[in-house]
Amino acid sequence: MKTVSIILPCYNEEESLPLYFEAVDKVIKDIQDYTFDFILVDDGSKDKTRQVMDNLYYKRDDVRVVSLTRNFGQNPAIYAGLSVSESDYVITMDVDLQDPVELIKDIVNKFTEGYDVVSPHRGDRKSDTYFKRTTAGMFYRFINKIEGKKVIPENVNAFRGLSKKAVALINSFPNKDRFFLNDAAFIGMKTCYIDFIRQKRSAGKTKYNFSKLFTHAFNLISTGTANPLYLPIKVGAISSFLFFFAFLSLLITYIVMVNGVFHYNQLIFTFMILSAIFLGISILIFFIGIIAIYLHNILINTRNLPLFIIDSDKKQSDKSLSSKEEDRIRN
Ligand code: UDP
Ligand code: MG
Repeated sequence: MKTVSIILPCYNEEESLPLYFEAVDKVIKDIQDYTFDFILVDDGSKDKTRQVMDNLYYKRDDVRVVSLTRNFGQNPAIYAGLSVSESDYVITMDVDLQDPVELIKDIVNKFTEGYDVVSPHRGDRKSDTYFKRTTAGMFYRFINKIEGKKVIPENVNAFRGLSKKAVALINSFPNKDRFFLNDAAFIGMKTCYIDFIRQKRSAGKTKYNFSKLFTHAFNLISTGTANPLYLPIKVGAISSFLFFFAFLSLLITYIVMVNGVFHYNQLIFTFMILSAIFLGISILIFFIGIIAIYLHNILINTRNLPLFIIDSDKKQSDKSLSSKEEDRIRN
């Protein structure tokens, strides 16, 4: 029997957790040749998530509860789960049933075929709003084009199946400016995709608002690429040429106008010059922004703080508790 650990990062998921287990039990009971356990990572939840997890821990014999000291974010929570996993395979997924549990069967079939990285891939994004669909499409095209290679496969999220070897590789990376999506693609290995349709959230709310998504996109781009750093020098070289010719044409216009051949509209002329100045300043701010994001990644690496901090890690083998604590949980 091969073992599979399902890693579930959870932040305020008291409502989703019971629904998840109700659904997943129906699926895993029919899967042969693999035994499953669950690594629940409590990412500093503020609701009753931890209590729900503890209840599951005592009721079941396949649940491990890893608690982080505070809310670190979905990515660090996944890394925390990966860092403690010991099984032959790992599946990372959302606990809100957006990543369908039925796919676990397809993922383990791919493990049987010998794949190290199984990436469920959203065949269509019809369930998304037009805005999210378009911006997501632009994001994937940009990140993969700018680096000249596939940094992140299109339309994948943190739903992934990984072999022990793949997990060990990811755990061995020393850098701290990391994202699971980048790492899972970066390691290469025997990879395959399976199509799926992302479901609606079973309960609770998304933890990603627009601003968080925006920052997330920039973080993913900057940690997975280096080419944007060449953008300022390339654009700078081209625009120096362009501005030289613009200057020449302004000079010629001025000479012609002074000689009284044309009449010029002072307002339009001022507007054009001001536009050119503001355009120049905006491009400059944009480039400073690019450099700042990469600088931020260097800062994260030089600070070298841990990606996550584990407060407690409760395995099934630690279950011999004082009856007092057991009573507290049961009530
Ligand atoms: N999550 C987490 N820490 C966070 C935010 C989210 O562990 O700070 C978990 C969350 O509980 C869920 C998964 O990451 O299991 C994905 O989050 P969410 O469903 O909010 O993202 P969406 O599916 O909307 O992109
Ligand atoms: Mg979700």
